[in-house]
Amino acid sequence: MSQSTHVFHRQLAKRPPVAVSGQGIWLRDAEGRSYIDASGGAAVSCLGHGHPDVIAAMHRQIDQLAYAHTSFFTTEVAEQLADLLVGSAPAGMSHVYFVSGGSEAVEAALKMARQYFVEIGQPQRRHFIARRQSYHGNTLGALAVGGNEWRREQFRPLLIDVTHVSPCYEYRGRLPDETPEAYGQRLVAELARTIEELGPDNVMAFVAETVGGATAGVLTPVPGYFKGIRDLCDRHGILLILDEVMCGMGRTGTLHACEQEGVVPDLLTVAKGLGGGYQPIGAVLAQGRIVETMRQGSGLFQHGHTYLGHAVACAAALAVQQVIQRDHLLTQVRDRGAYLASRLRHELGDHPHVGDIRGRGLFWGLELVQDRAIRQWFEPSLKLHARLKSAAMEEGLMIYPMGGTVDGRCGDHVLLAPPFISSEGEVDQIVTRLRRSLDRVVSDIGL
Ligand code: PLP
Repeated sequence: MSQSTHVFHRQLAKRPPVAVSGQGIWLRDAEGRSYIDASGGAAVSCLGHGHPDVIAAMHRQIDQLAYAHTSFFTTEVAEQLADLLVGSAPAGMSHVYFVSGGSEAVEAALKMARQYFVEIGQPQRRHFIARRQSYHGNTLGALAVGGNEWRREQFRPLLIDVTHVSPCYEYRGRLPDETPEAYGQRLVAELARTIEELGPDNVMAFVAETVGGATAGVLTPVPGYFKGIRDLCDRHGILLILDEVMCGMGRTGTLHACEQEGVVPDLLTVAKGLGGGYQPIGAVLAQGRIVETMRQGSGLFQHGHTYLGHAVACAAALAVQQVIQRDHLLTQVRDRGAYLASRLRHELGDHPHVGDIRGRGLFWGLELVQDRAIRQWFEPSLKLHARLKSAAMEEGLMIYPMGGTVDGRCGDHVLLAPPFISSEGEVDQIVTRLRRSLDRVVSDIGL
């Protein structure tokens, strides 16, 4: 392939390797090099690559019907996928709205919240509250609720006004003499104060990732945190929107991460693992009363994209979810996740530059620090996370690096989200290669 390219790569200066094939948890490039997909791309490829059942289902659907616009038709496959999702959804989530990805799911959820309040006669509710160090996507609404300042900065004049509160970030936020539960309640109290300041009747929704992913290397909630938030939202008639685009669809060991928190949201966004990367697809799961309000009010949700409910995308997602159920892969996520956690702790738990290892299921993050004792980050200019990504690629390992701004400073993080089908031997290889990559980077920068 020629060096010239018409593809507008995100990193403009450097052309990445050309991926040509994939099988199981492995990808291969045009030079014949193999890589373990330890991040599932960006927590997408839950079944790995080349799964025959998913490919066969897509073939069957494309032979029969690829696309029918939803203003004219529904399709059998979209209805089946909706039934499967509703059948396994948290209580009361009776409807599904399909989209083509995570940002679109968040946009749709934000607009559903707004339309719901307009239709029940509370149009003054126009504020969203979200969390710092969160990521909800890159379209304007999703970027506005996201709490990642460096992503937002240049677009700020275009963004709706959103109030951000502290994330649940135990490693950096919990005080030395505070229990996890007390820390969670302190965060709930902060949200309560913010709601009071905005005026409870002016707030539409609180938006949060159930388990944070794409900004600060997996942020797991402390016990009671989301229950406290759910109670607070109920008290003030505020909707709870949980964004499980990354942490959902089995990634943390239950189909929805909120199951482990014992809370049911009003709106729940999913994407990535829904179609496992075989097709672009996302969805918003909605409480029946929200949909019923629109149905009896204006009669339509004032939204829509050309490809929503695309038949081949639905066929791929249906097959992915059926394989997960048939092969009991959620049990495998929990078992293999426990194994990954133990290997990470054994190999990297005492590493002088690994400050924290945290996660659930097959969703793990490492926070990298220059000095463990005082939890000091590396100098942002070192771009440690980017160096580690390059070193890992040379070791034949895909990891998802992050270097988001944390209260104005940078932290370096690594996300691991291997496919649910990973074997113990493959997990061993992931951890060994990661350790080798980290040691190499640390020695290259002379530490
Ligand atoms: N929400 C969360 C929690 C995410 O992690 C992401 C992507 O990483 C998104 C939304 C945006 O999804 P997409 O990149 O598919 O638009």
